[in-house]
Amino acid sequence: MTTQNFKYQLLNEAGQPTTFLSKKGSFDGKQLDLAGEQYRAADILHTMQAKKAFIFVVPSAEGQPKAISILMHTGNVKQLRSDIDRIRSAVQVGKEEEAWQAGGRVGVFRKEQCPCCTATLNLSRFEPPPQLFCDYCDTVFTVPIQPETPKNEVEYKLCEHCGMYSHPRHFTEFYFYFLFVVYGYWTNESTRCPACMRGTAWKMLAVNFLFIIGIIPAIYQLIRAYASDKIAGPFSGLHAANLKATKRNYSAATKIYRSILERVPFAAGVHYNLGLALVQNKEWERASAAFELSLDDCSNYRYAAGGLMHCYEALGRTDDLKAMQSQWSSPEAENEIPIDATSAQA
Ligand SMILES: [Zn+2]
Ligand SMILES: [Zn+2]
Repeated sequence: MTTQNFKYQLLNEAGQPTTFLSKKGSFDGKQLDLAGEQYRAADILHTMQAKKAFIFVVPSAEGQPKAISILMHTGNVKQLRSDIDRIRSAVQVGKEEEAWQAGGRVGVFRKEQCPCCTATLNLSRFEPPPQLFCDYCDTVFTVPIQPETPKNEVEYKLCEHCGMYSHPRHFTEFYFYFLFVVYGYWTNESTRCPACMRGTAWKMLAVNFLFIIGIIPAIYQLIRAYASDKIAGPFSGLHAANLKATKRNYSAATKIYRSILERVPFAAGVHYNLGLALVQNKEWERASAAFELSLDDCSNYRYAAGGLMHCYEALGRTDDLKAMQSQWSSPEAENEIPIDATSAQA
């Protein structure tokens, strides 16, 4: 791996730069160097990215993990995060595998590499595929790929804006203003699904109509918001269904989700959206069935597990809730792995 060099400013808890000038940083494939302060990738507990900001969590001498935030002015934030995640996940899963062997546990230690970001995933606690979820890049993927699997399946994720499984895209809001002698423009960049983009794209067009210059970007974003649904292939109709669900037209949304599920045999994300729509309509029993189907397709899909626990709580299914909490939150949960889940891999 070639060393990545970048310029950055350290951010404080309020997200403001702590220094006026930017400093030099680098990552050589093992260590992150921030102006002489070094952090081993293997020791990093968690990473996050928000536009050009990179946040990572490391253990501290005081015992409490410490979050460090930097704003990168040069270099590729996404690549840096992905490289660090690949190293730290491999080290972490290696330790878990050693502990598994040392503990003399029954069953096979099962690990996979994410085809999208190449992070190493420990799947020993979960039923084997058809689908897997990567916590590092937030992607659900089908293994092995089926004839009906959408070719761009790894591009589908939960939208940051509406929280639904969709095909989020980069979206720039652009407003040009001209007020007598003062003129300028205002932009905002976000990643959201086309269904979420639609309302904002119309607002852009309405505001920019007054000042002409902003009309071209407004029309461009409006076209993207509507046209992008057509390229969704087997997932065609997903954004329309999501939009219906957010507008509380649950029966129409459910009908479209069901038609997609007839075309795509393994689609944990679509079952998840169906569950989410039913939860919003307080149909707990049907929602729990949808989340269970989502977990049947992708047993480590964290979001569906969260939705199902929420349903179990609402339905008063305390024993089911406790069993799920134990599987998902206890570090010793590997001991409770059902024998059939492990023997299926043997
Ligand atoms: Zn991944
Ligand atoms: Zn959205």
